[in-house]
Amino acid sequence: MARRQLLKEINRSAILNVIKAHGPIARADIARRTQISPAAVTHQTAALIEDGLIFEKQEGNSRGGRRPILLALNATGTYVVGVKLAETRATLALTDLNAEIVTRHAIDLSSRDPVSVSDQLAEAISDVLNRTHIDHNRMLGVGVGMAGIIDSVNGICRMSPYNGWHNVPFADLLEERLDYPVILGNDVSTLTLVEKLYGPGQHVNDLLVVTLGRGVGLGMVLNGQMYRGARGSGGEFGHTTIDPQGVICQCGKRGCLETYIADPWLLRRAAMNGLTADTVDDLLASARGGDGVALHIYESAGQVLGQGIANLINLFNPSLIIVSGEGVRAGDFIFPAMRDAIAKHTFGQLGEDVVLRIEPASDDTWARGAAGLVLNEVFEAQPRILQLSS
Ligand SMILES: [Zn+2]
Repeated sequence: MARRQLLKEINRSAILNVIKAHGPIARADIARRTQISPAAVTHQTAALIEDGLIFEKQEGNSRGGRRPILLALNATGTYVVGVKLAETRATLALTDLNAEIVTRHAIDLSSRDPVSVSDQLAEAISDVLNRTHIDHNRMLGVGVGMAGIIDSVNGICRMSPYNGWHNVPFADLLEERLDYPVILGNDVSTLTLVEKLYGPGQHVNDLLVVTLGRGVGLGMVLNGQMYRGARGSGGEFGHTTIDPQGVICQCGKRGCLETYIADPWLLRRAAMNGLTADTVDDLLASARGGDGVALHIYESAGQVLGQGIANLINLFNPSLIIVSGEGVRAGDFIFPAMRDAIAKHTFGQLGEDVVLRIEPASDDTWARGAAGLVLNEVFEAQPRILQLSS
């Protein structure tokens, strides 16, 4: 029985993904593309219509006679809320099934205490839903993305350097205050999910997302699957060692990649070289003004980043790398050196297989990513969340 149930779920997910990618599409074409029997397609699509995830559209080419009935994703039939949780601020986005943002909201958090944060978030989520008058039955769930080591399966924040949390069962805390399931995830993973589901990542099997900002993150899609490692903690690209004799990183080790390129380190390196810059904007302004120290700091950052990315290319042979995050705004000063270093350090022809894309990120991007935590469940073979909410 279990095996039959799993097969049904895999079929369901395959059908839904074909409708998402190729809809509006006829049932016969779905059967052809998925190699699932027409009877099973009819059965599964009836269930998907009942769940409100797809709908029948009567159009398409007709050569006389009846026009075929096509199936399309019911984007506005289902909603999710994505929350980007930072230490003093939370950004919320209500999105539809296509991850299009319907409305957004941001709050300043008055306390970092997990119970207080869950109270404040629950209130903000209710505000957003009340403001948009969305039928509560159409809300699928809430995704929360935050920096740190996150056990997404159990909804536990194992360690968050910025919030100072250790082993906080935050998904449970928030779920107790809401009527919806909550999925907690690492913020870089959430961004990667959205690129995989809705961005350029939907056309490739091997995708890496590198984020620059307060830290350096890495999200991996390998063989078409999100890769998180044995305990979900993989992707600590920022803490790969560049120089064993280097400066001591926040993690306690020496010479991590982050110590060259993460925002706080750019400022610290400026200070070490006699340039006063209180914020990253100050440092950027100095670089734009042609300040030699600022330009050198960014160039070194680009070089180290390029070496690191070349190592990733050599290890994984990805077809697409997306560089994103707030740090992208310094791209004019970082990316030329980064591209040179990538070209210099990639092995053989591997560099020719990969497309590099730069995508700036805002608070909205991250909140949309958090929504992706829930949306991904809809398109995965084993939709945990539909079982939870039914
Ligand atoms: Zn480190």
